[in-house]
Amino acid sequence: MAKHEYNRSDDQLEKARRELDASAAGLDTRLVSATNELYQPEAAPRHLAAFLTDLGEKTLYDAAAQCNRCGYCETVCPTYALTGRETLSARGRNQFMRLLVEGRAKDPAEAKEALSTCLLCGACTSACYAKVPTPDLVLEGRRTLEGYGDDLLSRAAVGTLLNAPWLFSLWLKLAYLAKLSGLPRLAAAMGLYHFLGMPGLADAERSVKKVPLRFAAQTLRRDPELRRDGRRGIKWAYFAPCGPNYLFTEVAAATVRLLKRNAGEGVFMDNHCCGLLAHNYGRLEDARKFARKNITAYEALKAAYGEFALIADCSSCAAFMKSYEQLFTADPAWRGRAAAFAASVKDILEFINPEDFPSAAKAHSAHKGVVTYHDSCRACHGQGIRREPRAVIRKLAGRRYVELPESEWCCGGAGAYAFTQPEISASVLDRKLRNIASVQAKTVVVGATSCLIQINAGLRAAYPSAEAVHYSVFLDRMTGGPADKQ
Ligand code: SF4
Ligand code: SF4
Repeated sequence: MAKHEYNRSDDQLEKARRELDASAAGLDTRLVSATNELYQPEAAPRHLAAFLTDLGEKTLYDAAAQCNRCGYCETVCPTYALTGRETLSARGRNQFMRLLVEGRAKDPAEAKEALSTCLLCGACTSACYAKVPTPDLVLEGRRTLEGYGDDLLSRAAVGTLLNAPWLFSLWLKLAYLAKLSGLPRLAAAMGLYHFLGMPGLADAERSVKKVPLRFAAQTLRRDPELRRDGRRGIKWAYFAPCGPNYLFTEVAAATVRLLKRNAGEGVFMDNHCCGLLAHNYGRLEDARKFARKNITAYEALKAAYGEFALIADCSSCAAFMKSYEQLFTADPAWRGRAAAFAASVKDILEFINPEDFPSAAKAHSAHKGVVTYHDSCRACHGQGIRREPRAVIRKLAGRRYVELPESEWCCGGAGAYAFTQPEISASVLDRKLRNIASVQAKTVVVGATSCLIQINAGLRAAYPSAEAVHYSVFLDRMTGGPADKQ
């Protein structure tokens, strides 16, 4: 081939490259301006700068565009299974987000139903070959809705929990005292739960049998066995999520007993709320503030004691803390610290070894009858934890353990979803209850406090001979711990 032909070919290639670059730049500019229009520059702190997906770091557009509309996720999406509506499926929700970013859907409110009905269960991402982070995309969409998470009460509640947790505790105790004195309506009338930004807490509180007047953190701070006075060599630090701290203190107590018995020496971190509530309800900057406080507390413990595992006993909180790095992708000063913190987090479901326990023959018979296990969404889809808790429960329950059909199907609790979308939540729960009844279970072991509230509320109404029990409480009782009721 003659030399000039090579040259001409190079020229053509160069020209094509320039055209491609120009068109990519044009596309980029259009997307950036559509994204800016969607977000409004002053609202940037309300949003994630990037998504850390299983296939790498993605922008909002790239993450949404990753959806090739194959529809594999349709069979696992509870809201699609229930309604048969494409807009209430993962595929439909991702298309909404893509249209919003491309500026082809001008008003995020048009997508409000699709965005607000998502359970954020993550079953779609588990089923998706492209690993599209649909729950994170949905949350981004919600954050574009006008006023989302920005009302006075939400701001006051999150602000109090963040800056004056003692005041938050005081309000909560007043509400509990009103319940104990037989005046739950007074608590509601006083607007305490609304002040706490948790109108759903009134329903949650109704669905638990007893409320604690001493929170878990208060007890753990005084536990002499959790004080190590800087002596190095601890194996674990306990992080008290809000559920076990404020509502299910027996879960926190059982977890700490288990850790003391089976995992060597440890301490209590005396943490702040993990920030999940603020994150999921539109207050991302506040979620970052919670995260920074916890990261700083973790680093101080690490400086004093060396490496350890940070144990949480609510799968929703553990999964969220494992994703702290995603909050700081645009903040180099905090990103590495968040990643180090996240790497130390362990869900109690994955931390306990079956070898640490006696066989079924020697286990306590605190739970008679069939025992089954419900996979909390943020344990199985959020953290990939499936095998570990089953191995331990099987060891303790032996042949009484029966696998729950559709164990990964969401129970409909999903944080405050049961209170914001009661009809869908009840239908999703109904499927879970039918599955529990189908194996004639007496005990349903769960790893998240939201599931504990939701499944127990359903069981009390439809199948009262069965009980949902937190994993730590189940293990503790089966190995001789006190059999206090949840
Ligand atoms: S989210 Fe994933 S599984 Fe669902 S349609 Fe898109 S690519 Fe397919
Ligand atoms: S997170 Fe759950 S409810 Fe939401 S789209 Fe995915 S599967 Fe459906």
